[in-house]
Parts: sequence; C-alpha cells; structure tokens
Amino acid sequence: MTIKTANLGFPRIGRHRELKFALESYWAGKSDRAALLDVASKLRAANWLLQKEMGIDVIPSNDFSLYDQVLDTAVMVGAIPSIYGWQGGSVDLDTYFAMARGSNGGHAACGHAHQGNGVPALEMTKWFDTNYHYLVPEFSADQHFELTSNKPLEAFLEARTIGVQTRPVLLGPVTFLKLGKTRDGSSAINLLDRLLPVYARIFAELAAAGADWVQVDEPCLVLDLGDEERQAVSHAYAALHALVPDLRIMLATYFGALGDNLDIVARLPVSGIHVDLVSAPQQAAAVLEKVSPQCVISLGVIDGRNIWRSDLAKLRDTILPLIGGRDHTTIQLAPSCSLLHVPIDVSLETTLDDELRSWLAFATQKLEELKQLSGAIDGSDIAVAADFRANGAATQARLTSVRVNDPIVAGRLVEIQGVEQKRHSPFAKRKDLQRRRFGLPPFPTTTIGSFPQTADVRKARSMHDKGELSYIDYKAFIERETAAAVRWQEEIGLDVFVHGEFERNDMVQYFGEQLSGFAFTRHAWVQSYGSRYVRPPIIYGDVSRPNPMTVGWWRYAQSLTQRPMKGMLTGPITILNWSFVRDDLPRETVGRQIALAIRDEVLDLEEAGAGIIQIDEAALREGLPLRKADWQHYLGWAVECFRMCTSGVADETQIHTHMCYSEFNDIMSAIAAMDADVISIETSRSKMKLLQAFAGERYPNEIGPGVYDIHSPRVPDAGEMKTLLDLAREHLLDDQLWVNPDCGLKTRKWEDVKPALVNMVEAARRLRLDL
Ligand code: GLN
Ligand code: ZN
Repeated sequence: MTIKTANLGFPRIGRHRELKFALESYWAGKSDRAALLDVASKLRAANWLLQKEMGIDVIPSNDFSLYDQVLDTAVMVGAIPSIYGWQGGSVDLDTYFAMARGSNGGHAACGHAHQGNGVPALEMTKWFDTNYHYLVPEFSADQHFELTSNKPLEAFLEARTIGVQTRPVLLGPVTFLKLGKTRDGSSAINLLDRLLPVYARIFAELAAAGADWVQVDEPCLVLDLGDEERQAVSHAYAALHALVPDLRIMLATYFGALGDNLDIVARLPVSGIHVDLVSAPQQAAAVLEKVSPQCVISLGVIDGRNIWRSDLAKLRDTILPLIGGRDHTTIQLAPSCSLLHVPIDVSLETTLDDELRSWLAFATQKLEELKQLSGAIDGSDIAVAADFRANGAATQARLTSVRVNDPIVAGRLVEIQGVEQKRHSPFAKRKDLQRRRFGLPPFPTTTIGSFPQTADVRKARSMHDKGELSYIDYKAFIERETAAAVRWQEEIGLDVFVHGEFERNDMVQYFGEQLSGFAFTRHAWVQSYGSRYVRPPIIYGDVSRPNPMTVGWWRYAQSLTQRPMKGMLTGPITILNWSFVRDDLPRETVGRQIALAIRDEVLDLEEAGAGIIQIDEAALREGLPLRKADWQHYLGWAVECFRMCTSGVADETQIHTHMCYSEFNDIMSAIAAMDADVISIETSRSKMKLLQAFAGERYPNEIGPGVYDIHSPRVPDAGEMKTLLDLAREHLLDDQLWVNPDCGLKTRKWEDVKPALVNMVEAARRLRLDL
C-alpha cells in the first residue's frame, strides 16, 4: 500500500491568467457576475480534475478565491466593517470587492478609493514571509460573528458533482484573528469564543454533507506566540472537537518550525498535523516523536515556495528512516505549503532552453514529484525507477553545470571573506567633504527616481520588445523623455536630479536581465494580491555583471545639466527578495554575489563621474525571518551586502538609499549600520511620527522623510508639506534633513506629479526662509 499524497492548495489564477482577465472585465463593467462566476467555476473544475488525473489522493477544495482567502474568511464569518453597508445575510460580490479594493460609491466598475461617498479598501499586508498579500480583517471589541454563507461546503459539493472527493481548506480561527486588527487596539484573540460557534457550524454542515476531513491552516503556529495565544490554540481545537467530533481535522502549519509551539500542537485533539519540512527540516524527528501514533502526519517535503525540481532520491533516503517505525497509513506526503506561491506549469515555458527547464518544477510538476516519491518509498515500481533516474540526472546536472558555477565569482567571494566592509572615513568626515563638493542649499530637494511611466513609454518598450521598434529608435525615444524630465527639473528648481528611469520595465527585472545567472519566464505568474500577478526572476547560477547596466543612461542624463544627477540602482537584498533564488547555496551567499555585481556598477558610475549614487533597498524589511531569534543573523548579512556595494567609493561620493516603508523602530540599528549618507523613507501618511526612531544618536546620517504620499493622485499644497517638514524638524537636525516624496513616481500621471513637485520645492524654499 502506497503512502498517500496530499495537496494543500493549487494556484487559482489559471494557466493563462483567466481569473485576472475575468475580474478586470467584471470590474470594468464589460461582463456580468454570471460570466465571472463561470470562469471561476471552470478554473476550480480544471484544478480538481488535473489533480485527480494525476492520482493525488487528497485534493483540496475551497483553496480557490476570487481575491484572497483571508478576505473570504472575513466575509464568511460576517466580519464586515459597517462602512461597507452590509445588512446581514449573504454578502454580494460588490460588497466583497469594495472590501478588497474600495469603491467609488456604488460603482462596481471602479476599483479605487476616491474622495466623495466611496469607501476605502481594507488594509493589505504581506502573508507571513511570502510575497503574497492578504487583506487585513478589521474587528471591533463588540464584534459579532455569523455565518453568511458556507463557502467551504459549496466548494466541497461543487467538486463532488464532478466526481472529486475533496478535503476543504479553511483558514484556522486563531490565525484568522491574529492576522486581523481591532479598531480600538483591543486584542482580537479575545473574540475567539464568539467565532468558534461559526466554525463549528461550518464543520457540522461539512460533516453532514459527507466530508470526512478538513484542512485547517494555522500558520501562526510557526511564529513566536504569547501564552495567551497558545492557550487560545488549545482551547479552540478542544472546543471544535467537542462540538463536531466526527469531522477529522488536518491542522496545517507551514513557513517554519513549530519550535516552542510543538508541545501544545502535539497534544491537540486533531486527527492530523501537517508540518513544513522544507523551511524547517530539522523539526522532523521531534515531530514524529511527539505526535501520537494514531495521528496522521503530513510531511511537507516538496518545496511549495520555490521552483526547483526536488532531489527525489535524497528525499526518499531522508524520509524512510524517519517513518520507519510508523504505520504508513498515518503518513501523507505533501508540498511544504499551498502551491499558491509557485507558477502552474513548466511546460508552458517554451522559450526557456531545455536544460534550464529540466531543472524546474512548478505546481503541476511538484504534484508529479509527490506521486513519484510515494511510489518509491513503498515499492519498486519500474516506472518510478525510470522517473528517479531522470530526476537524479537533472538535479545532478544543475549542481555541476558550468552555467551555474562561475569560478571567478566564487574566487571573488573568497577574497573578500573576513574583510570588513566599510567606507574609508566615518560619516562626519564624509559629510564635510560632500558638503563642499556639492554646495547644496539647506533642506535639499530631490525625488526617489522614477517619473511617470506613461502609456507612450510603455508602448515604446513593448514595440521594442516585439521587434517593431529598432533599438536606435527606442533609445532616441527614451532619451527624449529623459531630456524633457531633466529640463523640467531645471525649470522647477530641484537640487538633485534623477534621470527618470524611463528605460526600466521594473526595478528588479531591469537589472536581472543584464546580470549573469538570471532567467526570465513568459508564463510563470504568481499571485501577489487580487488580480495582480508577478513573474519573479529565477536566479539559477552564480551572479555577475558582464557589462555596465546603467552608466550609459546616466552619462546621457548628466550631460544635459550642471546639477548633480543621481546614479540609480536596485540593491542586492531587494533583488534577492523579489526573485526565486537557487536552493543549492545559502541565500546569503547569493546576496553577496549580487552585492558584488552592484558594487561593480557603483564603481563604474563613480568613475564615469557620478557624485551621488542611490541604491534602493525597498524590500530589505520583507526578508525578515518570522521568528525574532533569527532577525539578527538576517540583518547582519543583509547590511553587509549593502556595505559591500558601497565600501569602494571615495568619501566625496554620496551614497543614498531608499526604503518603501514606515516601520523602522525594531530594525533601527541595522538601518544605521548600512551607513548610507542619505536615506529616504515613507513618512507622509504617518505624519512624520516614525522619525522618533531616527532621532538623536540613533541615526546620525542624513534623512529624506517623504513629504507627500505618492499612492494617491491628490496634490498636496506647499503649506501642507511645509507643516510636515516642521514636524520633521522636531525630531531631526536641520542639517540632516532632505525634502522628497515618499517613493518613486512611476505609477502617477504627469499632471499630478508636476504641481506636487512644484509645491514641494516651494515648501523647501519657505523652510529655508525660517532659518
Ligand atoms: N528608484 C525607484 C523608483 O523611484 C524606487 C522604487 C521603490 O523603492 N519601490 O521607482
Ligand atoms: Zn519606495
């Protein structure tokens, strides 16, 4: 008897992004509800049938969502803030989408929150340490929960009508509450007892309909939990078991180790426990020892977060001794987490070369791997033996390929090992030299890098990509855009210029396409949020920079003006965190390789004459590990990577960095350790409050706190920005302060950007008058 294979969730976007197009068409008023729901139900059916044909034993349902599974849960249990005007009963699609995207006051057609009688969307934030974003449920202290519709039951029944018995997936009650926020700051966990009856009813209806198992996701169990939260977990599952004893629960944990939560998890009255053995292989022995012999253990052994083919022989050899003493009917093999985080099918990538393609496994291939692995663990199936040989050959080829291993890169890394990465002189000395070099006024003004990526710019790029516009014509077009932007910056009197980034498709892709060791896909989309999908670059080999990537564009832009033109780069940690990273090297080693490549570019820019170079680390914070105990290690190498980029420049060269967020308190010493001469951050929405973290000793270098929110088309006037700057001066010294927007302006329109920047320059001028 073979060991069962189980899947925790399949991508819902469709092989050809069908869900995105159906949603956008619905939002644009071009198609109706029935058409949208029809596409959704076809996608679900296709996924179920695919998994059934592949022979997966445990197939999930309710892993589908029109937008987000956390939002689905909030809607299901009636956690709908009053501004959305819900009156009880079932929740219509427009209310659902208003929570997801805001509404314009009655129009399903428009997604964005504007002034007027529309409502804003729920807040959105990252799903654990992935690049998926969920909508943050909002609760109040007097929160009432009720079942609005039993979505898991509907999905279960729908699958059954096409002959597929499924295991419905629900987000667990504790994780759901923990991910939410309360308006009055009270603890959401206190609402558990009001929520549990709703879950119990869902479970009871599922059991009555013939479901034997449910998968209940509690990824919060891999986080640092307080005692109260741990008690909530024990209490929740004891209560659910008492209320609905017939339905068996597979409690799914993923993205890390159970660690200090293992003891309580092992004692829960659940019938199965799923653990992630890809992110936390070291927990395997302890889990198998502590979990009772009757409890099913689902081993998450195929990487649900990355795109590499597994080494099946190696996996078999690690799993066999682990499960040796155990009844194999209590073992399931599974991906480490839902396959939501990987693309759907490698076979769509017809433009990748065969060798590279043979190294990859997307969702569909991962399910094949599961089948092969379970066959190999229990028997000596001939077909499996052949699969194993092919798999072994591909994984071996990847490890030893000359495309992957570049001795020069390895040699450079050895050379810098143990060499402290730091600027020649301390900041105070550099500041002096730089002040003399640039002669900037107090409160210098600048922008973060990109100017609007207009329809014209995007069209020219796409024509060039398709071969409809020659490189010469494309380049001439981009140069005209750049020249216009430079002239306009002269006109309004900014102090430090940018070239506008018109030549860039994306801040990571632009660099990845020019670095060795990166590959790009055509169809390998993964959901970032709602209908937004991304195609992360694949870092498959040692990274190096064959040629300068930005120097030509910079040189052209600088040739048009006497003002300092910033060189503009994306930092190594951001490139790393927004890519699929090879798994045969530690992440930090890949980070150092990218850092060396960026360092080469920094030095070439400096040699070309760039006096100011900005290295964006928008995603530094995104890489923070889930457990606090692991933060220091990550921040240590992340900061070192940044310093590798900058340690070679002269004291007179001014290094800027930019970070897209507004939470610094808990990582302040790492931010200071980066030792950028100037950092720009997002502060306008928090009204400069976060600058407290930067005050005094904590951050001696210079700071540009964003003075206007670039996420909205609203144009703030000079007075408003001046008020923010006055607030900033309460925390910072005058000679620390720069004036800039919150972030790049690529998503805005010129008609918003122009008046806003004119006002920003005026705000700085008024500030100077106060001196
Ligand atoms: N330089 C980039 C830009 O302005 C920075 C973007 C970002 O940090 N997200 O677009
Ligand atoms: Zn930004």
